[in-house]
Amino acid sequence: MPDFEEVAERVWVARYEWADANVTAIGSDRGLVVVDTHGSTAAGRVVLDDLHRLGAGPVAAVVNTHWHWDHSFGNAAFREQDPDLPIHAHEDAAAMLAEKGEYMKGRFAESDDPHRDDVVATELVIPDHIFSSTRVLDLGDRTVELVFPGRGHTSGDLVVRVPDVDVMLAGDLVEESAKPWIGLDSYVFDWPGTLDLVVAMATTETRIVPGHGIVVDRTFVDDQRDELVAIAETVRMLAGSGVPVDRAVAEGTWPWESDERIANAVTRGYEALPPSSRSLPLA
Ligand SMILES: [Zn+2]
Repeated sequence: MPDFEEVAERVWVARYEWADANVTAIGSDRGLVVVDTHGSTAAGRVVLDDLHRLGAGPVAAVVNTHWHWDHSFGNAAFREQDPDLPIHAHEDAAAMLAEKGEYMKGRFAESDDPHRDDVVATELVIPDHIFSSTRVLDLGDRTVELVFPGRGHTSGDLVVRVPDVDVMLAGDLVEESAKPWIGLDSYVFDWPGTLDLVVAMATTETRIVPGHGIVVDRTFVDDQRDELVAIAETVRMLAGSGVPVDRAVAEGTWPWESDERIANAVTRGYEALPPSSRSLPLA
């Protein structure tokens, strides 16, 4: 059972083994803001137990950094404790969870994942406090900013800033313990520019909590951005030189060993490019 570790004054991060998921709690006079709720109602209840042991006050609000199951499927556990608890997210994250949440549960139902039954039993709770660009949470003695820096890992990733301690929570726009997950709901051409904004909001001192892995700094995010630039440029180059989509993964030179992420980047990139840039004659 992980403990919440204080990474800055009254900002605690717990790193859970399942999905190597980070959950962050931000303390204030008005209670805790909990960012991400892990992957099932049962897992969310474990987070609540761990928060109880932390003893830093009741939960005042929940934030989902994006719609993915390992960040939002624990929401129901928090609502069990407080039916009026506000759950914040970007409007696209709420829409995607409503649209795709049951599909994700179905994927687990068909798998032999050890957490399958917990996920299948999970009641989806869609964030009810949505916004499009920015939102400030006034917590009395501290403010927390929710910022939508643009599309990337999904269409609705938000970044949480805690300005008084120079901390930023980047969700899965940044990953430390693995390469950033490029999925079939990712935006490969937007992601680097989105990270430009994340980097611009950071100082050299900013502690950046990724969705998965340990705290990083601005330089780390800048380096991860460069890898995503290389992927986007390679996809654009392959499509522009007429390489068919089914040969693109093999013919590209990628910043890391080609994997499902790279395959997804090719799929998504080719989908996003206008047909003319895919069918340019070679001569
Ligand atoms: Zn994710």
